[in-house]
Amino acid sequence: MKRTHVPVRIDNKHARCRVCHVESNINPDVVPLTGLRQNVVRCACCRVTAHNYVVRNDPNRKIHGLEGFQNRTCFDILHTHEGFQLWKRLPPQSKKGAAAVQFSHRYYKDLRELHGFSRELTRKRGRNESDGRNESDESVDSEDDGN
Ligand SMILES: [Zn+2]
Ligand SMILES: [Zn+2]
Repeated sequence: MKRTHVPVRIDNKHARCRVCHVESNINPDVVPLTGLRQNVVRCACCRVTAHNYVVRNDPNRKIHGLEGFQNRTCFDILHTHEGFQLWKRLPPQSKKGAAAVQFSHRYYKDLRELHGFSRELTRKRGRNESDGRNESDESVDSEDDGN
């Protein structure tokens, strides 16, 4: 039985849009986490969570400037050819969530560059190292940062 990639409405206020979250991770000053949890759907097949609409009219957002991502919903971006590579799907039993961002992917580096950072990821030392979270783990359902 093959399941298809269709959006399913979820009632989970902790689920975040993975597409927007990547950009927020790169540049939280211009892409705040606020709003990442609104109107998020989950894929019936690969379980990734994302906005089911096109994020528009925000000049601070750069991800829609990447080839193939223009005028797509966040949900659709996750299901493009590049989207499957950038958000590598994890097996259902993974405790790290549905997908892991591939920091070595050229689109991730492109996005860093579009935000004015170096293409290569420099490790953030001394920050968030002890709380057990990592950057590939953005939509773990039990996560609660106190709204
Ligand atoms: Zn899917
Ligand atoms: Zn989004």
